[in-house]
Amino acid sequence: MQGYFITGTDTGVGKTRATAALLRAFLDLGLPALAIKPIQTGCVETDGRLVAEDVEEYARLASPHFPAGYPNTCCREYRPACSPHLAARLAGETLAPETLTNEIFTLGRDHMPLLVEGAGGAAVPLSDSATTLDLMHRLGLSIIVVADNKLGMINHALMTVEAVRNRGLEVAGVVINNTTPPGDDADLRKENIRAVALHGNVPILAEIPWLGKKDGDALFIERMAEVAKLLADREKERGKAENGLAFDRDHLWHPYTSALNPLPSVKVTGAQGTRIVLDDGTKLVDGMASWWCAIHGYNHPALNRAAHEQIGRMSHVMFGGLTHDPAIDLGRALLNMAPDGLEHIFFADSGSVSVEVAIKMALQYMQADGQTDRVRLLTVRGGYHGDTCGAMSVCDPDSGMHHLFNGLLPRQIFAPRPRCRFGDPFDPADLDEMRAILDQHGQEIAAIIVEPIVQGAGGMHFYHPEYLRGLRELADHHQILLILDEIATGFGRTGKLFACEWANITPDILCLGKALTGGTMTLAATLATAKVARTLSAEGGVLMHGPTFMGNPLACAVAKASLDLLRQTDWQGKIRNIQAWLTEALTPCRDLEGVDDVRVLGAIGVVEMQHSVNVPRLQQFFIRQGVWLRPFGRLIYAMPPYVITADEVALIGRTISSAIADGKHQTRNDHP
Ligand code: PMP
Repeated sequence: MQGYFITGTDTGVGKTRATAALLRAFLDLGLPALAIKPIQTGCVETDGRLVAEDVEEYARLASPHFPAGYPNTCCREYRPACSPHLAARLAGETLAPETLTNEIFTLGRDHMPLLVEGAGGAAVPLSDSATTLDLMHRLGLSIIVVADNKLGMINHALMTVEAVRNRGLEVAGVVINNTTPPGDDADLRKENIRAVALHGNVPILAEIPWLGKKDGDALFIERMAEVAKLLADREKERGKAENGLAFDRDHLWHPYTSALNPLPSVKVTGAQGTRIVLDDGTKLVDGMASWWCAIHGYNHPALNRAAHEQIGRMSHVMFGGLTHDPAIDLGRALLNMAPDGLEHIFFADSGSVSVEVAIKMALQYMQADGQTDRVRLLTVRGGYHGDTCGAMSVCDPDSGMHHLFNGLLPRQIFAPRPRCRFGDPFDPADLDEMRAILDQHGQEIAAIIVEPIVQGAGGMHFYHPEYLRGLRELADHHQILLILDEIATGFGRTGKLFACEWANITPDILCLGKALTGGTMTLAATLATAKVARTLSAEGGVLMHGPTFMGNPLACAVAKASLDLLRQTDWQGKIRNIQAWLTEALTPCRDLEGVDDVRVLGAIGVVEMQHSVNVPRLQQFFIRQGVWLRPFGRLIYAMPPYVITADEVALIGRTISSAIADGKHQTRNDHP
């Protein structure tokens, strides 16, 4: 939606008149503009109803273009002349940015540009949990700041510009108004304007002289006509600008696709909550949480705040010889929530690297323990642990990348994939082959590494907790280490904070990543028990890993905020709901032709097809239905943000079943 949010540096700066005059100017240009006043306080009662004064002003100036009368474009009218949060509270209401956004976009559906006038300034509260900035943020419109040219204006204008930019919003420019007659302060007023333009690095769209008591409508409209023309021209230029997709296609490598003939990519300009916004304005319901990491939804204010605050202090310092509060605070929070017994943390830069670190820990542990023959890893088929060499060596040997890197990858030992599914009865014979391998190769093996309960990118297979418990017992029996890769399952995804809790076990080494920062940026962690750290470090041993961006303060600060958020929300309730919604939404797929299996665990819903699916064709269809999903192999699946709603899950389910019913699936390969 193209449009502008008009905010003031204060009340009484001429925001309404600027909005009304800009509306008129756009209408005079032949554009179907509409001005909306979402919240009006200080309404007076006329003929038994509350009247929004500002909308009356729009109506007055726009009257030549609305012969049948201007619509009432006020969403909430309140009598007390006070902050919206208080006016709403006195009326027994709560103002929610998401509801107001829906109402504004519904009112403005057939209009462009849309002018939305705030109540007071940007930081004015709407409720105890939201301010006008949150509404601006949700609307995503460009911001026009109206400032009154008087003492103090520089400060207020610059703070407003900075606050909206911190929310990722574009400032279209500043309109300077003069609400008082000029005296001998002409130079000072000129300097105010220069300072705002310079320090705010922002265009001054117009300066409106003091209009006195005379009817200044004509002059105001005249000045705003120039602004409207400038903004309309800017929009036209933007429309003509090349969107970069050709460059992207020709030069940027995307995951698991050809450099020369890549699968298509769609361009994203923003993401908010459960929605991904494409450059044509299309909003997609996100069923992927960006490869399972954006658990709180996108653009979460608490995570953004943590990033802003930390970036203001320092975004990075080396971790060699230095330390900082973000790493210490995150470390404490992680140990508080991690399974008992894990006491040492290595902060790595990505999931794959945390797996490399885990493997090194296990090998160095055995070296330090004098068991130098124990250099191999034991795992199960159907696993996925990342794309670096050590991690690749324990990915499924058939669907993984072993054949491409034969000779480079260490040769690990593979047991069959666990057969007993989650929720089915457990058959102890499921562990027989694992047991036999350990009896035969036990002396070569340093550690067992698996994804607990859910094998993710290796096929979205959910297996029995007893199997995992069995692995713990076998590892103890053979005195080898158990590494659990919870990069995909950690932080609540399966319904437990960590999937190993299903089996009530603690690993010796635990890998975490993905949702650790709530999907804001890359960070992973490898946690180890005191025994692992102590043995490895005996006689001066040190873990031989130390990436440049280890313990990055910015990522640590955001991760800490994400863990706090998780702790403060009823994530168990959310996951329980999502599990029920996914079950209801996906179960009908069972009866469709070509479907092999449908399964749901926690916030993971999977439709397994009999054959590989056609990713580009399916994706085109999903986007047309307003849904973002990225199938791979034979799997069409959803792992949505925890903030997804019942309706959104239902839409995802309907979209998947109609795609299958319409036969929009074929052969192609792609996986995260
Ligand atoms: N382990 C598991 C279980 C994963 O799902 C992934 C990513 N899909 C990784 C490791 C690798 O993490 P990253 O992509 O951050 O390197």
